[in-house]
Amino acid sequence: MFKKLASLILASALLAAAAGCSAGKDGSEKVEVVATYSIIYDLVKNVGGDKVDVHSMVPIGANPHEYDPLPEDVLKTTDADVVFYNGLNLEEGNSWFNKLLKTSDKDGKDAPVYRVSEGVKAIHLESKGLEEEPDPHAWLNIENGIIYVENIRDALIKEDPDNKEYYEKNAEKYISELKTLHEKTITELQKIPKEKRVLVTSEGAFKYFGEAYNMNTAFVWEINSENQGTPQQIKNLVDLIKGGSVSALFVETSVDPRSMETVSKETGVPIKGKVFTDSLGKQGEEGDTYKKMMEWNTQTVIEGLK
Ligand SMILES: [Zn+2]
Repeated sequence: MFKKLASLILASALLAAAAGCSAGKDGSEKVEVVATYSIIYDLVKNVGGDKVDVHSMVPIGANPHEYDPLPEDVLKTTDADVVFYNGLNLEEGNSWFNKLLKTSDKDGKDAPVYRVSEGVKAIHLESKGLEEEPDPHAWLNIENGIIYVENIRDALIKEDPDNKEYYEKNAEKYISELKTLHEKTITELQKIPKEKRVLVTSEGAFKYFGEAYNMNTAFVWEINSENQGTPQQIKNLVDLIKGGSVSALFVETSVDPRSMETVSKETGVPIKGKVFTDSLGKQGEEGDTYKKMMEWNTQTVIEGLK
């Protein structure tokens, strides 16, 4: 409680300081953008290029379902020309994103806040009581990634019409690369024999991926904002694996690996690698862009299941 209050006071003080010493957002040549997490950050950079300054909030390797915004996030969001979020039930834990919009005075009807998943066909959760909730991980189907890019392009054009052609050109080139990657992913994953196409991860993040690329999926827990790795969840997965043809397990870079390690011990099925779901890799390391993380996942799954 005290910590929260202290951050708020600090944020207010910083805000006052910022207002006092700069001309505000109009003083900058670039479009000031805030993205909720690293994957949106990378998509925005690909469309916005050097016309945008992008601040990504949830750190690399962390879980965007739940987050405590820092004073810097409040400042940047307050000052932003455009704010992008995933939606589809992603930034919902502790209502962190809605609270941030309110604190940053970006909760008005006409605020430049854009849901990048607008127009995606949602797949719903399966767990009891959650059937009405959409699964957020739409970006793991590259065709949805393309919809995200189109939404980002349109939003940047709306907020910065002077650079319309620049955004259109960047988006067109990037979308064509993503289309190629989507086709390649389909072809590559077809190499895995049908009976071996089971992708087991900690969180059930691969529904959209499974549907797009013809993979069956299984998980310990369905979504990161729910209870994670309870004994019952672990037992359910262990039972499923014992009765089936699972030959490899995978663990995401943005979750605690201990549950999957337990599953591996109890079933004798090895963990065959890390996959990227809710975060890019660290800059300069594997999976540090959306394209690279998708390529990494495909290769890791093929290697692990062959
Ligand atoms: Zn997730």
